[in-house]
Amino acid sequence: MKYKNFIANKWVDALSGQYVKVIDPSTGQPYAEIARSSAADIDAAVQAAQGASVGAWGKMAPAARSRLLLRLSQALLDQQETLAQIESRDTGKPIKQARSDAAAVARYFEFYAGAVDKLHGTTIPYPHDYTVLTVREPHGVTGHIIPWNYPLQIFGRSVGAALATGNACVVKPAEDACLSILKVAEIAVEVGLPEGTLNICTGLGSEAGAALSAHPGIAHISFTGSPQTGKQVAQAAADHFAPVTLELGGKSPQIVFSDADIDAAVPVLLNAIIQNAGQTCSAGSRLLVQRAIYTDLMGRLAEQFKATRTGAAADDPDCGPLINARQLERVKAFLQEADEAGISVVAQGQLDINAPKGGYYQPPVLLGDVPPSHRLAQEEIFGPVLAAIPFDTEEEALSIANSTPFGLVAGVWTQDGARQLRFARKVRSGQVFINNYGAGGGVELPFGGTGQSGYGREKGFEALYGFTVLKTIAIKH
Ligand code: NAD
Repeated sequence: MKYKNFIANKWVDALSGQYVKVIDPSTGQPYAEIARSSAADIDAAVQAAQGASVGAWGKMAPAARSRLLLRLSQALLDQQETLAQIESRDTGKPIKQARSDAAAVARYFEFYAGAVDKLHGTTIPYPHDYTVLTVREPHGVTGHIIPWNYPLQIFGRSVGAALATGNACVVKPAEDACLSILKVAEIAVEVGLPEGTLNICTGLGSEAGAALSAHPGIAHISFTGSPQTGKQVAQAAADHFAPVTLELGGKSPQIVFSDADIDAAVPVLLNAIIQNAGQTCSAGSRLLVQRAIYTDLMGRLAEQFKATRTGAAADDPDCGPLINARQLERVKAFLQEADEAGISVVAQGQLDINAPKGGYYQPPVLLGDVPPSHRLAQEEIFGPVLAAIPFDTEEEALSIANSTPFGLVAGVWTQDGARQLRFARKVRSGQVFINNYGAGGGVELPFGGTGQSGYGREKGFEALYGFTVLKTIAIKH
C-alpha cells in the first residue's frame, strides 16, 4: 500500500516520486510506503493553506466552524476502531491503548469545537475619550511537526486547537508512524472541511520537517519531539520570526512519601512507565521513595513488573514493542550502562513466547538505588525503564526532583495536605499530580514544560491563546 500526501483535499504524490518504507514494530517487517516529501511539496501545502486562510475557512463564522469541528469529532468517534487498528499496527502500541488514543483525538476536536465561539477579547480602561479593546486573531498558517509516539493524540491537541482558532494547518507527521493521521484527513474531507484547511506532507524530518520549519509562510510552529530537533526547529523558525511551541519530553519524577497510600500508588507507578512502552514524553521515569517504605514499595512494585507481559501490539499485551531498531538499541545501551555501573535490576517483565522474532521488544525493567546524578536518573531513556532512588527528607526529595534539566510532569504521593501544596509549588514542572498521575492524559489540562522540556502550553483552553495573536485596538472618539 502506498500513501500519498494530502494537499488541498487531494491525494498527491510527492514531487520527487519517492517513498519511505513503513515498518511494523511488532514484526520488524515493512508493510506500506509513505510519500517522501521535499521542500517543494511543503511549499505546495503552505500555498494551499494560505488560500484557505483567506478563503472559505478564514471567512467561516465561528459558530459554523464549531459545528464543522464537532461533526469531525463525531466522525472520528464513529471510526474509533478503524483508527485504533491503524495506530496500533503503526506504532506498536497495544490495541487497548490505541483505542483510548482514538477516543482522545475525537475528544480534542469536541473540546476545541466547543471553545471556538467562547474565546473573547477584553476592553481596557483608558482616557475617557477612548475605547480600547483586544481581539484574538489566527496566526494564518500554522505548522505542526508530530512525533511517532502518540500520532493521533498529538495531532488532536495541536491541530484541534489551531483549527478552532481559525488557522489553516500544514502537518508533518513522523516517518515512523503517520498512517492514522492520513486517515483523519480522509475523514475530514468527508465531513466537509474546506479545501486547503488541513494539509499533510509525510517524509523524513531532515527533509520535510526542516523545510516546514524554514518556510516563511508558516506563522507559528508546534513541535513535539527531542530537545535536539526542537532546538533546530526553533532556530529555523527564528529566521522568519515565527513563534514556536516546543514539547520536548522529560525525566518526570514520582515522589512517594512514607505516609502515602501505597495500594493506590503501585498500579499508577507501574502504568506511568509501561504505558506506550515508556515512549511517553510525560512517562513517570524516576521514582523517588522515602527510605522508611523503600523496601516494601520496591517489593510490591517488583511483583507488578515481573507480572507484565510484553508482546505484539495486536495481542494486547501490557507492553508493546518499541518503535524501531534505533530506539531499541538506545534503550539497551542505557541498560548496559546500568550493568557496568553496578546498578541493580530489581525486576524485569516477561517476553511473550509468541512475540514475533523481528519485533523491537524490551520488557519493563525496574532499577534500584540509582545514584541521582547518574545518566540513568538524568536523561530521557524513552523506554520502559524505571529508575528508583531512595530519599530521607522532603528537602532532599525536592532537590533530587529538581536536579535534571527537564521539568514536564511530577507526581507527589502523600496524605499531608500542607506538604502536597508546598511540594507542588516548589517542584520545577509544568504539571503536578497529587496522589495520581496523568501521563499523556487530560484533554482539558494545560500541558507543557520548563527547561529542556520546552516552552509554550498545549491542551486545555490555554492552547487557544498560543494559536492566536492578540491585537489591541484603540479608538479615539
Ligand atoms: P525527533 O525529535 O527527531 O522527531 C520528532 C519529529 O521531528 C518527527 O516528525 C521528525 O520527522 C521531525 N524532525 C526530525 N528532524 C527534523 C528537523 N531537522 N527539522 C524538523 N523536523 C524534524 O525524534 P526521534 O529521532 O524520532 O526520537 C529521538 C528521541 O526523541 C527519542 O529517543 C526520545 O527521547 C525523544 N522523543 C520525544 C518525544 C516526545 O513526545 N517528547 C517524541 C518522540 C521522540
